[in-house]
Amino acid sequence: DVTSPDALDDSELAIEGALRPGSLAEFVGQQKVRGQLQLLLDAARIQQRPADHILLAGPPGLGKTTLAMIVAHESERPLRMSSGPAIQHAGDLAALLSSLTPGEVLFIDEIHRMARSAEEMLYLAMEDFRIDIMVGKGAGATSIPLDLAPFTLVGATTRSGLLPNPLRDRFGFTAHLEYYEPEELERVIARSADKLGVRLGEAQRAEIARRSRGTPRIANRLLRRVRDWALVKSGGGEAALADVRAALELYDVDEIGLDRLDRAVLDALVRRFRGGPVGLSTLAVAVGEESDTVESVVEPYLVRIGYMGRTPRGRVATPEAYAHLGIAHPDGALH
Ligand code: ADP
Repeated sequence: DVTSPDALDDSELAIEGALRPGSLAEFVGQQKVRGQLQLLLDAARIQQRPADHILLAGPPGLGKTTLAMIVAHESERPLRMSSGPAIQHAGDLAALLSSLTPGEVLFIDEIHRMARSAEEMLYLAMEDFRIDIMVGKGAGATSIPLDLAPFTLVGATTRSGLLPNPLRDRFGFTAHLEYYEPEELERVIARSADKLGVRLGEAQRAEIARRSRGTPRIANRLLRRVRDWALVKSGGGEAALADVRAALELYDVDEIGLDRLDRAVLDALVRRFRGGPVGLSTLAVAVGEESDTVESVVEPYLVRIGYMGRTPRGRVATPEAYAHLGIAHPDGALH
């Protein structure tokens, strides 16, 4: 799905690699977070110590992995990459932590999905660069302390609310990444178009930006589909506005960038549940998706653009959502 902000296969990862900014200066937008990170890295450099642990929170595709790579690059330290789902036992984490070299940056993506037992080991590791390894079982079990090389943990999560407080508290800094403004996405697109050798006017960049759901990953992906269209249908010259529109239409991206799942959720909310309120899990079942995906991927954007509201009794559709689907709002007469 070209509009899905996550789900990358290997070839896509390679393409993303080529488009990834390599320094904070090249990283578009998120000005506040960039300033905060810069200060943290500068202080660590002056004191010649690893930077404090950093938590990056926000929906998929907004630049968390990119920032982790930049942290390693700017502090001239090696980067080790892992993810929550890969750490299913405390032993997995112990093996990872004990193999780090001094000052290494450890990136754990989807850190909220790590095993509970590993989480507890991580508290001590983050605070004292030490872990306790359990040897043996039952009454004869003993714990052997093991010193670790000092490291910087960069954790990424789409669901910071799921992290236990003791873990959240051990990060020196938490960055909340926001959806990008269209002007920022235009800059991402201009940069990527240069790298991909795509010629694209300003109106075309704006059109792609407007339909990118506030997400650089989607902007880059739509740009590649526009490039394909221009290549195949228009002989590889500059992509015209009509090319951009035709390409995005072909891939089911609507005029404000909602994808099929976004629209399915809105549609269920409005038609099936009469605008709500409806519980998250009921809504997720109705569209055949995991609650987690609906909550961390679909909902934040629909709330952000004012199409969905969250109330204590559940999710509700706003009049704007009705208008977008072309359905009369039940209180239409009142508006
Ligand atoms: P996340 O880890 O949050 O899912 P990534 O860091 O993998 O997101 O970013 C996805 C893609 O979007 C990357 O290929 C990167 O090139 C691009 N990207 C993300 N943020 C920015 C940014 N601020 N400036 C330029 N490109 C970006």
